[in-house]
Formats: sequence, structure tokens, C-alpha cells
Amino acid sequence: MSILKELQQIINPEHILIDEALKNHTYTKLGGKADFFVTPSTVEEVQEIIRYANKTDVPFTLLGNGSNVIVRDGGIRGIVLSLKKFLGIRREGNKVIAESGARIIDASRFALNEHLTGLEFACGIPGTVGGALYMNAGAYGGEVKDCLESALVVDSFGEVHRLPADSFDLEYRTSNIAEKGYIVLEASFSLEVSDYNEIKAVMDDLTYKRESKQPLEYPSCGSVFKRPPGYFAGKLIQDSELQGKGIGGAEVSTKHAGFIVNKNNATASDYISVIEMVQREVKTKFGVELEREVRILGED
Ligand SMILES: Cc1cc2nc3c(=O)[nH]c(=O)nc-3n(C[C@H](O)[C@H](O)[C@H](O)COP(=O)(O)OP(=O)(O)OC[C@H]3O[C@@H](n4cnc5c(N)ncnc54)[C@H](O)[C@@H]3O)c2cc1C
Repeated sequence: MSILKELQQIINPEHILIDEALKNHTYTKLGGKADFFVTPSTVEEVQEIIRYANKTDVPFTLLGNGSNVIVRDGGIRGIVLSLKKFLGIRREGNKVIAESGARIIDASRFALNEHLTGLEFACGIPGTVGGALYMNAGAYGGEVKDCLESALVVDSFGEVHRLPADSFDLEYRTSNIAEKGYIVLEASFSLEVSDYNEIKAVMDDLTYKRESKQPLEYPSCGSVFKRPPGYFAGKLIQDSELQGKGIGGAEVSTKHAGFIVNKNNATASDYISVIEMVQREVKTKFGVELEREVRILGED
């Protein structure tokens, strides 16, 4: 049976898009197509899709909000799974429990409205809860690791488990989620009661800092590189005089050197060439290897 026919037996056919342009699902607004872009609406559907992909060896890629990935121009073969229908956010005691497709920004706002402190750092991070856990996303001194209590995941056999935070080896912009083959279904954040106005003041300050320093007017994937030990990636790039330098439609932002922006209909190939140019120049000038934070998916 064809992949499409098999998928149609697992989930509502309306939730399967064929040859879907992934530039519609990524923050860089570039990249090729997904053979099958599927958006399940129940945990059982997610389990069945994983079991099917395992059984048949159909390639399988998970996409969150696409804010930390670059999809190559040839797109992604097989199934691209999006949990964009898993949007619930609720409170249990002093915990905020958010489903994986919800934006972490919305979890942060929900916590504010519940007068709970601990998620302020996430108020401007444009990823989903699942993507934020995968990346151990963080900003301005806070990160997911600081407040994650546990998460509900599906393993590579399609089995569901609730695991404590320390099972994910959360470190600076990394976790073991890829290695373990987990799909995050929901995350539980342990927070504390505080004053609404105090929480809001912190969030307003972080939003001001972000809006004044980041080139949010152009598509990008945020900071492209991890902070190298003892340095700041943005400063190294700035001191290499790379701001404003570009290839095709992609260029190193003039506003924030750590960002590469899609300024004018860039291809993924332009974007990746700029990344490699920056890595080369910084290595030559300062002897520092810049490690990518952003993930590159798909084929040329
Ligand atoms: C303007 C801008 C500003 C940013 N600022 C910050 C910042 O301040 N701090 C920061 O840390 N990051 C920042 N980022 C990067 C990005 O938002 C984060 O890394 C975010 O956590 C990625 O989430 P996502 O849903 O977009 O994941 P995606 O980019 O879609 O995917 C990233 C990885 O997560 C995996 N993944 C996604 N969902 C799941 C899931 N449910 N289960 C298992 N794996 C999953 C994907 O397979 C992929 O490997 C910024 C990006 C942009 C564009």
C-alpha cells in the first residue's frame, strides 16, 4: 500500500498535506517541501504514526514552530510530523502544564495571568513547548531546565511515559531527546506564586530588550551559533566585520551579529553558505570554532 493510503488509515485525510512547502512552517521562510506534512490531533494518532514509520522505515521528522531549523532547498522526504493541534495549557497546583504544540510564549503569558513566576525568561522565545524542551531554550539568565518538573513523551516504539526533568540531560541548548527518539507531548513546569505586576515588569523589560536588539523585522532562526566558552558569538562576528555581508538573499544582520536574516527571498543554500562563511572567518581571525545552535534538516 502507498504511504498516503497507509497514513489515511491512521489519521483524518484532511490532516495530511502532500508536497507541503516548509517555508510556510519555518521562521526563516525558506526551504523545500515535505512529502507528507501530518498534523495528528490525538495521542493515539501520534503513537500509530510512529509505529507505522518504524515498521516501514519511512523517514520521519518532527517539526515544532520551525524557529530553530533550516530546511534545505530539496525539502524533507517521508513524513514531517507537526503537533500544532496540541495546544492546551492548564494549571495544577503551582504547576503549569502545556501541550507540546503550544507556544512557550503562551505558557509564559498563562503563568503571568495565574500570578506564577518562573517562566518569564520564555516570554519572547518563538518556539513550541516541545521545541523549547528539546533545545533547553533559554534567555536572559533563565532556561527550561530551571523550571521543568516532568514531561510526557512517546518513545520510538510508540509507548507513552511520564519522565522527570532529570531524565532529559538538559544542558546549554541541548538535551538527549533526539538520541532517545522521544516525542514530547506535554511539559509540566514547576512555578511559584508571586505578584502579577512584578512578573509583568520582568516580562516587559525582557520584551523591550529583545525588540530593541533583535532584527525581528526579517525572517531568521534567531541566534545561529551557540555561545563558545569564554566568548560571545555575536561579538566575534561583529569584530570580524561580517555584519551586512551576505550571499544571495541571506545576510549577517546589521542589528544583531548573531542573527542571519532572510533579507530578500534567500534560498536555504544562501543561508547555509552565510553560516559557513561566518564560521570560516571567525576561525581564521580568532581561532574560535563557532558551533551551530540551529539544526539543518532535509536534502539539497
Ligand atoms: C527571532 C527568534 C528569537 C529566538 N530567541 C531565542 C532565545 O532567546 N532563546 C532560545 O533558546 N532560542 C531562541 N530562538 C530559537 C528557537 O525559538 C528555540 O530554539 C525554540 O525552542 C525552538 O522551538 P521550535 O518549536 O521552533 O522547534 P523547531 O525549530 O521546529 O525544532 C527544533 C528541534 O526541536 C525538535 N522538536 C520540536 N518539537 C518537538 C517535540 N514535540 N518533541 C521532540 N522534539 C521536538 C525538532 O525535531 C527539532 O530538532 C529564537 C528564534 C527566533 C526565530
